[in-house]
Amino acid sequence: MGTPHVDVAIRGARIYDGSGGEGRVGDVAVAGDRIAAVSLGSDDEGSRAWRAGREIDARGLALAPGFIDVHSHDDLAVLLYPEMRFKVMQGVTTDVVGNCGFGVAPAGPASAVFRAFHPAHQLGGWDGYRGYMEVVEREPPSVNVAVLAGHGTLRLGAMAQPRGQPSAGELMQMQAWLEAALEAGALGFSTGLIYDPGRAARAEEIVALAHVAAAAGGLYATHMRNEASGLLDSIRETLLVGEATGVAVQVSHHKAAGRENWGRVRDSLRLLEAARAGGLDATADQYPYTSASTVLAAIVENDALNPRGNAGGLGRVDGTNVSLASAPRHPKYEGKTLADVAAVRGISAEAAAQWLVDSEGLAVTAIIEVMDEHDVRTVLAHPTTMVGSDGIPTLDGKPHPRLYGTFARVLGYYVREAGVLSLAEAVHRMTALPAAKFRLRDRGAVHTGAFADLVLFDPATIRDTATYADPHHHPLGIAHVFVNGVQVVRDGVHTGARPGRVLRRAG
Ligand SMILES: [Zn+2]
Repeated sequence: MGTPHVDVAIRGARIYDGSGGEGRVGDVAVAGDRIAAVSLGSDDEGSRAWRAGREIDARGLALAPGFIDVHSHDDLAVLLYPEMRFKVMQGVTTDVVGNCGFGVAPAGPASAVFRAFHPAHQLGGWDGYRGYMEVVEREPPSVNVAVLAGHGTLRLGAMAQPRGQPSAGELMQMQAWLEAALEAGALGFSTGLIYDPGRAARAEEIVALAHVAAAAGGLYATHMRNEASGLLDSIRETLLVGEATGVAVQVSHHKAAGRENWGRVRDSLRLLEAARAGGLDATADQYPYTSASTVLAAIVENDALNPRGNAGGLGRVDGTNVSLASAPRHPKYEGKTLADVAAVRGISAEAAAQWLVDSEGLAVTAIIEVMDEHDVRTVLAHPTTMVGSDGIPTLDGKPHPRLYGTFARVLGYYVREAGVLSLAEAVHRMTALPAAKFRLRDRGAVHTGAFADLVLFDPATIRDTATYADPHHHPLGIAHVFVNGVQVVRDGVHTGARPGRVLRRAG
């Protein structure tokens, strides 16, 4: 039966419902914040009877659930840039913040961490994760926001000496804060085990926190200790946390870093498969590029530029492989390699990196050529892989183009041009798969009763346009985006609407 009065009728799109099944032409009705009806096939009496406030002729377009960016660092960006153009314009309707151990509470240490990404902004305060969620709800962005608690930030807040080991009392404080975050609706927690101070944590500490997450039905997402020569040991450590506690695990930005480690993703995928066969909920996410991006301080701390060092979690890099994304006090070096900076200053690349970190601290971010294109495809083709941009929202510099291009790049380059996976499968990995894993109820699907988070795009033309040299460009081919039934992109233009909500973990 049709629903006669609806707000919006979208007609004639090829509907990819998120399940991974092939697209089918049909009509979708939106009423309020939900999908009121879905009508498949061309001669359905029901959908013809719809009387809609607005009609969208979507013939030739694909209609999918809005994309879920499972790996973002937009915790403060959603407050500073609430229209979230760099995400909305690529079809993202839900942004999962709090990755890599960087979280928003306690507010004091959090503001020190996020000052790195937003050096020009004064950051507000809030009372724990619950307080942060309330602030976002008061000034909602254009996208939905779902939150992970960040282990590194908990550590900074709880420990007198965050680079050491926690006392029993300090560990209990971290557990209590995590429990409060989960009660407020956080999806789980994240670690960043190459970053200070998360890198000091031993597996037992993570297990102690994972018990808290598991008890609440939350998940554990990790930027692992080592994505280079120690990739497989790091995967094992991650799976051990899952197996010891029953927590669902998510390997963040799955990759093998460093030429000498290329190809190891085949083995890391096998370890994930084996753990899944044993009953563990183990999955991963990925951004579709061969270069990584992080704070330059992490490259220095991990001794990655030292040709005689033992290459930490980032693997070994050299000055020609590292370019500066953002250096607010030295903008003339943005886009330049460390080798360029070193040549100008007449010092080594290692010394140039140290000099930049000494003068600007965490505000300097870098792009590092570390991955093999073949590995990127191997990981993307695997059914355990979701899509997460890992975008660093430093809008003043030259951020890694993944901030703007990730979802369109998967659909345009890897689906249409390279044929690495089908369109239906790619949509599944961007929608229903993460919605189930991250426990986002009634999201990530096109069916009656689901929230009307929707994206309409042209599968024949969608493509990313952001490049390393010139990253601030939105993708082409995305026509319309709806968040909670409200249109945020119309004919490729942001409407200014901000209907986003905080999404709390479903019980
Ligand atoms: Zn990370």
